[in-house]
Formats: sequence, structure tokens, C-alpha cells
Amino acid sequence: MSNKIQAIRGMNDLLPDRSPAWQYLERQLRSLVDRYDYREIRTPIVEQTALFARSIGEATDVVEKEMYTFDDRNGESLTLRPENTAAVVRAAMEHGLLHNQTQRLWYMGPMFRYERPQKGRYRQFHQIGIEAYGMTGPDIDAEIILLSARLWRQLGMAEHVTLELNSLGTPEARAAYRDSLVTYFEAHREVLDEDSQRRLTTNPLRILDSKNPAMAGMLAGAPQLLDHLDDASRQHFEQLKSTLDAAGVGYRINPRLVRGLDYYSRTVFEWTTTALGSQGTVCGGGRYDGLVEQLGGKPTPGVGFAIGLERLMLLLDTLDLIPAEAHGGADAYLLAMGDSAERNAIGLGERLRDALPALRLQVHCGGGSFKSQIRRADRSGASVALILGDDELEKGCLTIKPLREDGEQQTLELDDAIAWLDRQFP
Ligand code: ATP
Ligand code: MG
Repeated sequence: MSNKIQAIRGMNDLLPDRSPAWQYLERQLRSLVDRYDYREIRTPIVEQTALFARSIGEATDVVEKEMYTFDDRNGESLTLRPENTAAVVRAAMEHGLLHNQTQRLWYMGPMFRYERPQKGRYRQFHQIGIEAYGMTGPDIDAEIILLSARLWRQLGMAEHVTLELNSLGTPEARAAYRDSLVTYFEAHREVLDEDSQRRLTTNPLRILDSKNPAMAGMLAGAPQLLDHLDDASRQHFEQLKSTLDAAGVGYRINPRLVRGLDYYSRTVFEWTTTALGSQGTVCGGGRYDGLVEQLGGKPTPGVGFAIGLERLMLLLDTLDLIPAEAHGGADAYLLAMGDSAERNAIGLGERLRDALPALRLQVHCGGGSFKSQIRRADRSGASVALILGDDELEKGCLTIKPLREDGEQQTLELDDAIAWLDRQFP
């Protein structure tokens, strides 16, 4: 009977063969946000359930059916974060980061949603996100969009993603629009599927998001949010578009882009790709001027985005854009033959690391025949084996044996061997 415990469905292990690719991506992301002088914020992965319920909105998919919520031992309801904007707002308020100042922040880490696992959709996934506070104008909206556009260029995938843009206006303008939308949907009730019937009372804007082909014709004729914008939001949107035009970033106005979470106002955007099937949104974001106040703070404008790292990784894989890592394994593999040599090998490894900070060195553990040690050296990926025999030990020498290319094996005094390694692996 097999009763091995396995990982939770939809939650992935990252194995060592794959981690260099993730580290590559994470390095790219960190250096990018650093170039724009955004500063990192780390918050816990669990929060009080009320934080997400209040911010994301009760009638959203995330809150209705995707949250990992549980009572802790004190009976307090906690939730594994399904996204991080609300938590960043919570932390920024709690520590006074929003007091009469602007902030440009970023975070990276795991998020949790109880969804049906499939390609590009997992129950634990990772996001990098940007959040900027205290700035109302469209210039900061443009900045974060340009930052994301630079990322696609930096990764070599710019021509494979499209920017979709919309404005949701103010909550008041949206409420008026909502009324006209409900009137329209009620007149077409017979076309609405079951999900949409339900949303008609809870979250009618989300009906616009529906991918049901049977509703496509009806949705195409629905009143458009952009026609219901208040003047200030319209002007904000026009300025954003002309800033993007001036910066040479292309976009597609998508009047039906509403995004899944309740807290957005004015600008919303997504970067999408056709290369990943239906999980095509790589990055989503927008402005959320009402959120801080909604969570009990002083009114503070905010704007941000989140990138799904698994989807980005899938895309980079599909497009073959992950560079073969320069250092796939060890540079050198130190092995020892003979009793005293074996006892000294670990210590010699430390001396070599002291002298050669750039060297990636693996020291053989567990003894064995010369042949089996050389086999392990070969598998480590090292380009040279360093051999310490009792003879070398006695004379203060080290033998260097090339593993990848033909070349003479040489026995050098320890200092000369260190100098040689320093030249070889700078
Ligand atoms: P979708 O419409 O695909 O469900 P979403 O609107 O729920 O996405 P957001 O809350 O905007 O997603 O999160 C931002 C990004 O995080 C998404 O664009 C996507 O790249 C990624 N993402 C969201 N949910 C998942 C998931 N379950 N697995 C992997 N990535 C995800
Ligand atoms: Mg979703």
C-alpha cells in the first residue's frame, strides 16, 4: 500500500534544475524596479480575512470562491493572501508611510487562490507587484506602464504582448453606468447564462468579462463605460493616452476591460498574450484612489500592477527566451585519495574558498575509488578536478586534471595552483 504524502494540488515545487531560470527572472525584475527607484516591502502571507473581503469586494470571484480561509486556534478568521495590494495598503497605513508623502513600492512573493489548476493557473503562484501612493495625475500611471513595457523589452518578448487599456471613471460615474448596464442586460435576460444572471444583482460589470460565445453579440451592443466617464476621469484618461503616445507605447482601448477586483477606479490595464491559450493575462493593474480610505485611512491615491510570474515564465519558455545560465554547475571538484588526504580535503576546500571568492567549488564527500570520485566530478559539471593524494599532501601540492577539454594534468605547488585557478575562474 502506498501512502506517500504528496504536494497539495496546484502548488508546485521548484526543483534545482529549474531554479536558475527563476533566479534569472528574479534578477531581471529586481534590477528593473531598482532602476526606477522603487523600494521593496515585505508583508506576511496571512492577514485577517476582513482585509481582503473589504478591499477586493464581497461579490468578486476571489472573495466568493477562491480564498484559503481558516480559523486559527483563537478562532480568528485568517486568509492566505490571494493578492497583495490590500496587504501593502494595510502595512503602509499601519507604519505611517502614507502620511503627506509619496511612495513607490514593490513586492514579490507567493499568492494563494483556490482555483481549478491548469496550465498558467495554480493554487500557489507568485507575483511581483508595484504600488505607488500619493500621486493623482496620469503621469505615474504612465510611469508604471512604461516600467512594465521596459521589462518586456529587457526580456526580449515585447512583440508578444499587447497593452489593453480602459478607464473605469469615479465610483459615482461607475454607479450611473452600472444602472444603464443593468437596464440593458434586463432587456436581454434570455441571452444571459446562469453566472451572468447571478452577477446581474451582485456585480453586473463582471458580465462584460464573460468569455461565453453565446453572449458575445449581446455584449458587443452593451453600453460602454467610456461613454459614461465623468469629465475629470475623461481628461485623466486622455492625458494618459497622450503620454503613452509620446513615449511610443502602443495600446488597444478595450472598453470591456473591468478587472476582477472592486477597488479599481479610473485607469485599468492588462498586458495580454495569445501564446498561452486562455491564461493570456501576464500583468494586470490600475488605479485605486478609494482603497486607502475604504480601509480606514486618509484619502490617498494609489496605482499599481501585478505580474504573474508562472505565466511570464511559461511565456519565456514558449518563446525560448531563457538564456542558458552561464554557471550551470561547479567550476572545480576537489577529491582526495588516501587516508590523510581524505581527512584534509574539507579543510583544504576552505583554504581555497578563502583565497578564491569567485570559485564555485564542490568538495567530494564519502570517499570511494578514484574512478567513482572522478565520475562524480564529471557529473558536477566542473571543468577541472583537483586531486589531493597523500603524496600531494606531503609536498604541499595539488594536481589539476581538466575534465572537459584535452589538456595536460599538472601538479602544482598550492600557491601556484591557487594562482592558476584565479586566472581560470576570475
Ligand atoms: P485571471 O483573469 O487569469 O483569473 P485575475 O484577473 O484573477 O487573472 P489578477 O488578480 O489581476 O488576476 O492577478 C494578476 C496576475 O496574476 C494575472 O494577470 C496572472 O498573470 C496572475 N495570476 C492570477 N491568478 C493566478 C493563478 N491562479 N495562477 C497563476 N497566475 C495567476
Ligand atoms: Mg482570476
